[in-house]
Amino acid sequence: MTSPVAPAHRLLEVIDDDVLPLTERGVAHGNKVFGAALLRKADLLLVTVGTNDETDNPLWHGEIATLNRFYALPDRPPTTELIFLSTHEPCTLCMSAITWAGFDNYYYLFSHEDSRDAFAIPHDLRILKELFGLEPGGYRRTNAFWTAYAIRDLIDVEDEPLRSELRARTERIAARYAALSQQYQNTKGGNDIPLS
Ligand SMILES: [Zn+2]
Repeated sequence: MTSPVAPAHRLLEVIDDDVLPLTERGVAHGNKVFGAALLRKADLLLVTVGTNDETDNPLWHGEIATLNRFYALPDRPPTTELIFLSTHEPCTLCMSAITWAGFDNYYYLFSHEDSRDAFAIPHDLRILKELFGLEPGGYRRTNAFWTAYAIRDLIDVEDEPLRSELRARTERIAARYAALSQQYQNTKGGNDIPLS
């Protein structure tokens, strides 16, 4: 059964209110800016949230950190009932993790190209190309396991005045991420993350 597409306003709200405060602390400890959250499809309530923790383990991307928190919960809903929200389009490690965990969706704000161009993190696209021979956007965003949604695409089909409000909120969120990204880039020389 296909679930209705999650509303962009709630996804932006969760990034703004729940993911970003956690990521600000993570970046202060030398970690990348990537974060994620899980929401219940039924009522869009937050289940858990996480942020990149590569200074602890280079596999602890924002999505993996979120899954680790989720699987530490004593009482967990089935992943088929959840929305996977990622601030950035997941890398191949994380899209595989999302697959193995049984989600049928993920939503993201910033694309792989944004990660390369605006965040100076080219690794997602390099791995797609080097391991799989794929150009940017070359993976199957709709497949037997899940559908990937770009939040900006969801905003584009909203009616006015909501569309303009959501675009303005996206720009405010992007400005917060730009500052965090600069902070990370300024301090990353001191870390031992292999793909920093
Ligand atoms: Zn990842």
